[in-house]
Amino acid sequence: PIPNRSAEDIIALRRQHLNPSLSMSYRQPLKMVRGAGAYLYDQDGHAYLDMVNNVCHVGHCHPTVVAAGQAQMAQLNTNTRYLHDNIVEYAQRLSATFPAELSVVFLTNSGTEANDLALRIAKTYTQANDVIVVDHAYHGNSPTMIELSPYKFDGKGGRGRPPHIQVAEIPDDYRGRFRKEDPKAGVHYADDLHCAIAAIRARGEKPAAFYCESVLGCGGQVVLPAGYLQAAYAHAHAAGAVCIADEVQVGFGRAGDYFWAFEAQGVIPDIVTMGKPIGNGHPMGAVVTRPEIAQAFMTGMEYFNTFAGNPVSCAIGLAVLDVIQQEGLQAHAKQVGDFLLHGLNEMKKNHALIGDVRGTGLFIGVELVRDHASLEPATAEANAVIEFLKAHRILLSTDGPHDNVLKLKPPMVFSMNNAQEFLMRLDQALSQIS
Ligand code: PMP
Repeated sequence: PIPNRSAEDIIALRRQHLNPSLSMSYRQPLKMVRGAGAYLYDQDGHAYLDMVNNVCHVGHCHPTVVAAGQAQMAQLNTNTRYLHDNIVEYAQRLSATFPAELSVVFLTNSGTEANDLALRIAKTYTQANDVIVVDHAYHGNSPTMIELSPYKFDGKGGRGRPPHIQVAEIPDDYRGRFRKEDPKAGVHYADDLHCAIAAIRARGEKPAAFYCESVLGCGGQVVLPAGYLQAAYAHAHAAGAVCIADEVQVGFGRAGDYFWAFEAQGVIPDIVTMGKPIGNGHPMGAVVTRPEIAQAFMTGMEYFNTFAGNPVSCAIGLAVLDVIQQEGLQAHAKQVGDFLLHGLNEMKKNHALIGDVRGTGLFIGVELVRDHASLEPATAEANAVIEFLKAHRILLSTDGPHDNVLKLKPPMVFSMNNAQEFLMRLDQALSQIS
């Protein structure tokens, strides 16, 4: 049996034998031993309400998903060069959630792999090399995706922007150049793609792709202003690029109003990438694209991925889609998300620390500031909120370029009672901290 070690022993062993660049959550890290629904349980049996985990989408260790994985694991697990029902069933079911144009599925093992593959496809289709990304974005951990992620290359340990990458201004209508009062903010932000395209042309190159998350996660839970993607896609297409929607964080019904968050912008991407929630914690990712783009990728070089699309992964992916549907989780995300947004906006009236409340469904950001005119980020205060909530057994994280945005992205089974408890505790936290 594996010994039951103390938190201190585990930390010591991590230091000795694990990747030293791996961080831990909280000043005093937690040792979790079990998960169920929206809760994680520590080694003493304490239940923590999980508002961080958008990976265990339909709830931690959902019995339907677990049973599907166990049954298939006991039956067969092989690569995709044999015929199997699960993979075609999954491809069919997944593509049915998209507009009809997006009908070809490639399976991967992670969001990073999905974004890497999307880039390969885009470069092949366009015969171009350069890429436009949105400021502060994160698209994955491979060398290629680090080069494409301002969150990493501009961050600690980053080497700066590589010449083949252009960064478009973040369309943040709270902090950026164009604010919520401006009905054309989305269109104005999209104009910045002209600069990116001009810079690529000045290098004698062409853009292969424009990557954009459908709601900006690492950018600080930024909801794209109306019209942004429509205008940005038009500019990118006119320059010959394909448009890639990264739905790794927000897809699969989390946005509430829509199954895919890009739908809120009235666009159809050329390529969509998925990860995190797709397997409820099982390592999976996917790329969905148009047949003509997929066909252009047939250059003679095969895309083969040992584990991707195996019968176990597909059984799990199918179970996740079943549970989302059976439990009405998209509508639930809308209902609980709207309740949270309303409660947070009410709270904003009483707590000056809250500068902005934004989000869609169960993907919400609460930006904390010290001053409503200068928007000075309340980073230390945000961290104090996280520690206060931890003491009351609620898990929450922060994000954004200033790390001052409370990031709400719980498992989708997060209930109205959970939302009420969170609002009550956040109110207490803000009263104490300010
Ligand atoms: N894209 C986005 C928007 C992400 O948030 C992440 C992970 N945080 C990734 C891609 C990479 O996914 P993974 O960690 O599964 O490789």
